[in-house]
Amino acid sequence: MLQAIHNRLDELYAEMVDIRRYLHQYPELSFQEFKTAQYIADFYEKIGIPYQSGVGGNGVIATLKGGKPGKKVALRADFDALPIQDEKDVPYKSKVDGIMHACGHDGHTATLLTLAKTMKAFQDNLPGTIVFLHQHAEEYAPGGAKPIIESGAIDDVDAVFGTHLWSTTPFGVLQTSKDVFMAGPDRFEINIQGQGGHGGYPHQTKDAITIGSQVVSQLQQIVSRRLDPLETAVITIGQFEAGNAFNVIADKARLVGTVRYLKKDIQEQVIHEMENVIKGVCVANDASYSFDYKKGYPPLVNNAEEAQLVLEAADQVDEIQTAEEVKPVMAGEDFAYYTMEKPGAYFFTGAQKEGHHYPHHHPKFDIEERAMPVAAKTLISAYFKFQEK
Ligand code: MN
Repeated sequence: MLQAIHNRLDELYAEMVDIRRYLHQYPELSFQEFKTAQYIADFYEKIGIPYQSGVGGNGVIATLKGGKPGKKVALRADFDALPIQDEKDVPYKSKVDGIMHACGHDGHTATLLTLAKTMKAFQDNLPGTIVFLHQHAEEYAPGGAKPIIESGAIDDVDAVFGTHLWSTTPFGVLQTSKDVFMAGPDRFEINIQGQGGHGGYPHQTKDAITIGSQVVSQLQQIVSRRLDPLETAVITIGQFEAGNAFNVIADKARLVGTVRYLKKDIQEQVIHEMENVIKGVCVANDASYSFDYKKGYPPLVNNAEEAQLVLEAADQVDEIQTAEEVKPVMAGEDFAYYTMEKPGAYFFTGAQKEGHHYPHHHPKFDIEERAMPVAAKTLISAYFKFQEK
């Protein structure tokens, strides 16, 4: 049956591409994906698989109960886009100003919808139940996974699998991990209040730019001097805003950035050390500050057994030449919440376009569309592997 399913997915490739390109032209931001959710619901209506809309927000969940007994497994695809202007020159370029599918969630949706359509034809002989979990709002914390779980939608599910089409991994390569796979991404904002004044009279001011600069450089010492060298974290300041005239000393500075970590205790240590650095520098300069730290998604930790099933599933997919365990990446994913609740594994399906090397969230991001059936085949193979377990 597996080979027949894989063949059917190949036959539906053109439709899969059409779905992806349609969604690519009409992207919607996190928590505002109303039309996309409706598109997904309409699709299930048309192919005759029962579904539920408005799950935990804009989530759509369809359930295909097989004719044979077995376990219930959720396959997850996200469907939100990003506030990025599409700069690609392709016929399927985004038609929405300033919004773009720059992470491939359009491809995830096309993959899962086409897989659902395929599996409908195999329903009678299907062991177990497939839950097609279309999740909204992956890109923006608190994300869609958490409210979907809180709605009880996966309470009776035995396992969850998901994949990300990955534009920097070559086509034909599958990557996963048997432990922590993706980082916890947090956001922080530091506001330093100094005292502005005349550029020629620094002694009468508290220069927010020099104070902010000290904070930036001192923060670099946390990873290099305070963390155990065998542990890891990233502290990145992505925004530094201060001043607006060449001859005026800035009154305040605003620093915004992200912390990435793989373990909870490292996250706590980084927060503690950051507070110390900011406080210390500001005390030394007689300035005041506020430090606002927002915890994002937890690190994504795969279950070793389910990750092993994914690696074995990859062996059954003709297009996959290499299925490998890799070191964690420092991007985040709210798939993390599913594996905190249920056994499961997340993996990358190599989707690098020939001669095209733009990373995720880049204005020229695109995916190799042939990776979509590869993702679908791996997901369904993992589903069967889990049934046999
Ligand atoms: Mn993504």
